Amino acid sequence: MARTVAGLVPFTSIDFPGYLAAVVFFQGCPLRCPFCHNPNLQPLTDSTQDWSTTLNFLKTRRKRLDGVVFSGGEPLLQSDLPHMLMQIKDLGFKTALHTSGVYPEKLKEIFPLLDWVGLDIKGPWDKYDILCGRKKMAEKVQESLKILIESELNFECRTTCDPKNLKPTDILHIAKDLKSLGVRTYALQKYHTFPEDKNPPSLLDIESFFSHEALGPVQAIFPQLIIR
Ligand code: SF4
Repeated sequence: MARTVAGLVPFTSIDFPGYLAAVVFFQGCPLRCPFCHNPNLQPLTDSTQDWSTTLNFLKTRRKRLDGVVFSGGEPLLQSDLPHMLMQIKDLGFKTALHTSGVYPEKLKEIFPLLDWVGLDIKGPWDKYDILCGRKKMAEKVQESLKILIESELNFECRTTCDPKNLKPTDILHIAKDLKSLGVRTYALQKYHTFPEDKNPPSLLDIESFFSHEALGPVQAIFPQLIIR
């Protein structure tokens, strides 16, 4: 059983909206997003921490935290994910999943074990190959999005604003598309530079996504637009 835990953040108030949570990061991701600030999580290598150690730590946080976030990498790569989620549920935690959405069937299977999902929308569908570093992933993400929209599950769509590959007009395009599909919550995430990025965008370019001029039309579509 794959349980490739890469690390744990013991406390967060922003990764699981409305709840105080810990975040477990899983090793391995099929995508190669150019803006990935955790490229060390991409290869599916051995765990740096075993699951039982992670679980034992979380047991000590039962009275202090509301939930646990499964993040990565891509947690849906973990063949033992349903069992791990069940163990977390048995401890009384609420559960959240951060996913790229490229495994819609696996996502559907674990719905009963989830309380919230954060679904990445890397960019407009016609730019998806570049923004996720792999071909033919847009269809998979669209499928995941459809499954989420048709479900009762709380979820948000979120886009990392990579100024080297996205423009504010792309964000507006995505926002219109998501709204028309019935998405209620949309979040924009600031680009974070990372050591492997040899040609990072300027701070000005990063911030320009969040100017009033750029965001006004997006906020007209999603008045509760989240920026983090
Ligand atoms: S989906 Fe996330 S972990 Fe995977 S390459 Fe993209 S940013 Fe990195």
